[in-house]
Amino acid sequence: MLKTNAWKLWKQEEKEKAFSFSEEYKKFISENKTERKFVNKSVELAKKTGFQDITAMEKIVPGDSIFKINKNKQVIFGKIGEVPIEEGARFIVAHIDAPRLDLKPNPVYEDEGIVFFKTHYYGGIKKYHWLTIPLALYGTVVSKTGEIKMIEIGDKTDDPVFTITDLLPHLSRDQVKKTIEEGFPGENLNIVAATIPMEDDKEPVKKNLFSILGQYGVNEEDLISSEFEVVPAGVARDLGFDRSLILGYGQDDRVCSYTSFRALIDSSEVKRSMFCVFVDQEEIGSYGSTSAQSAFFQFFIEELLEKTKSKKSLRDVFENSRAISADVSSLLDPGYKEAYDLRNAARIGCGACVERTTGGRGKAGSTEPTAEYIAWIRKIFDENNVHWQPSELGKIEQGGGGTVATFFARLNIQTIDCGTGVISMHAPFEVTSKADVYSTYNAYKAFYSAE
Ligand code: MN
Ligand code: MN
Repeated sequence: MLKTNAWKLWKQEEKEKAFSFSEEYKKFISENKTERKFVNKSVELAKKTGFQDITAMEKIVPGDSIFKINKNKQVIFGKIGEVPIEEGARFIVAHIDAPRLDLKPNPVYEDEGIVFFKTHYYGGIKKYHWLTIPLALYGTVVSKTGEIKMIEIGDKTDDPVFTITDLLPHLSRDQVKKTIEEGFPGENLNIVAATIPMEDDKEPVKKNLFSILGQYGVNEEDLISSEFEVVPAGVARDLGFDRSLILGYGQDDRVCSYTSFRALIDSSEVKRSMFCVFVDQEEIGSYGSTSAQSAFFQFFIEELLEKTKSKKSLRDVFENSRAISADVSSLLDPGYKEAYDLRNAARIGCGACVERTTGGRGKAGSTEPTAEYIAWIRKIFDENNVHWQPSELGKIEQGGGGTVATFFARLNIQTIDCGTGVISMHAPFEVTSKADVYSTYNAYKAFYSAE
C-alpha cells in the first residue's frame, strides 16, 4: 500500500494551510492541558459561533448548533441537519484526558527538610520520563460546603514549577543494574513542593507550605476532595529546522479532539446531523460517569429525539449512524524498527491513519469494522482529497492498544478508528507532523460532509 509524503505532494498553498492550522492547534493544547480546561475552552469557542446548551432548549430544529456538558469533564457538540437523526447521523468520538500524574488524597509529607507531594500516575506511562522535567499543577479543590477553587501553577512565565528528582549518575551503580520496572517504582514519583521552614514545629516546612496554600483558600483536609493533575510545564513547540513537526504534551488525544472540534465548527453545510463526542477517562479504561461507557451519550440522543419531536427510538439512530473513533495511532520510529511490521506501520507525514485493528496478539480487544465500512471511508476520503494511510499499531505480538471505538460499536453504530500518528506516544512531550495534523482535520471534515 502506498505511503506518500504529503510535503512532496502538496502545493505551496496546502503546505501553508497545514502550518497556519498548526499554530492554532499548538496554542489550544498549550492552554488546555486538562479535560476540564478542554471542556471550558471548547464551550466558550462554540458559544461564540452560536452553539446553545440543549438543557435549556424546549425544541430542537434543523440548523441548530447545540452542546451538552457532563460534570464539567465531558461534552458533546452537534449541528442538526435536515435529515432526521433516526435516518443516520455522523459521530466523531475522541478522548480529552491524557496520561499524567495525579496527587494522592493525602499527598503531603516532609522528609529531611523537603516537602513532597505524593502522586499516583494516570494512564500508561514510562515512569522515568517524568523525572527531572519542569511540571505544572492544575487543581480543582471542592470544600465540604461545595465551594470550588481552581489552582493553576507552573505554566505562566513567572510561575514556579515542580519536579521529581533522580539520583546522580555518580551514585547510581545499584540503580542502573535494576530493570526499568524495578528502578522506578510508582511510590518514588514524589514532587518537590517546598523547603523553607516556618517556625519550630515537628514539620516546619509543611507548616509553611500550608500557610502558602491558605492564600488559595486550601487546607490539608480539602485535598481529600480535590483533583490535582500534574502535567509537563511549557507550551507546544515547533520541532526541527524545517518546523515540520510539533512537540507537545497530551497530543494523545487532543490532536484528534481539537481537529474534530474544528472540523465541526468549520462545517457550514449540514445535511446529516454531525456530532463531536468528547469523553474522559479513556486512559484508565473508560469506566466512570464521564467516560465513553457512561449512559450520558445514550441519554443525550434520547433528549435529542424528544426535543426534535421524533417518534423513533435510539435503535434507529444507532443502526443508521456512522462513527469515527478519533484516537492517535503509532508512527514508525526508525530507532525502534524491530517493534513494527514495516509493511503496515504508519509513516510520519503520510497523512491521517485509518486502523482496522488496534488489538495485539489475536486482535484481542479490537473493534473490527466491516470491509464495507472501510470501503466507504476510503471512498469519501479519496473523493475529498484527504491524505491518509492504512496502519497497524505495531508487530502482532509486541503489544496492542484499545480505543473507545468498542463502546460505540457495541451500540450497533458502524465505527472505525481514524486519527493522527504520533511518535513517543504517552511521553511527557509527544511528536506529531503538521502534515498529519492538517490531514486529520481534512479527514474529519470529509466524514461530516459525506452523504
Ligand atoms: Mn488515545
Ligand atoms: Mn493513550
